[in-house]
Amino acid sequence: MTGNITFTIIKPCAVSHEYIGDILKMISAAGFSIAAMKYTKLSQIQGAYFYNVHKEKPFFEDLVEFMTSGPIVVAILEKENAVEDYRKLIGNTDPAKAEPGTIRKLFAESIQRNAVHGSDSDSNARKEADFFFSKSERFDRGGHFLELVPVEDV
Ligand code: UDP
Ligand code: MG
Repeated sequence: MTGNITFTIIKPCAVSHEYIGDILKMISAAGFSIAAMKYTKLSQIQGAYFYNVHKEKPFFEDLVEFMTSGPIVVAILEKENAVEDYRKLIGNTDPAKAEPGTIRKLFAESIQRNAVHGSDSDSNARKEADFFFSKSERFDRGGHFLELVPVEDV
């Protein structure tokens, strides 16, 4: 069984270009429902923690600087098979390689300023969702507190 949530960030580049509405419209049209959402800005510590897995990469420092440079939208998205389906909707990390019609193809500026984040596994979706939202801030389509589907790799 696959998890029912993924976690996304609308990155500072997309926020500053006023793409929030267009991106949320694509997310809804693709069948995701918003389980939690906030408009916020990452501190240096939060940005470095969130991208800790990339700390040895040459792009890490620039990435954290970019991700902390302005406000972002963070959200939990609910849908069956959420992680895989959302990665398909956003497209390749590098917009030059992203399929036509994907969020990154439409709204990314570069491999770094690529409009959105999407979790890469069910376990990371849980960790990322937990980092930004408490259980009392997550709701299902019926307005009840969100129940998470048990997944093997969490
Ligand atoms: N990134 C970058 N340069 C690279 C590769 C990635 O600046 O050569 C940034 C980009 O913003 C990307 C993030 O680092 O979204 C995380 O990289 P990852 O490989 O996890 O890509 P993603 O899962 O976001 O597609
Ligand atoms: Mg990733």
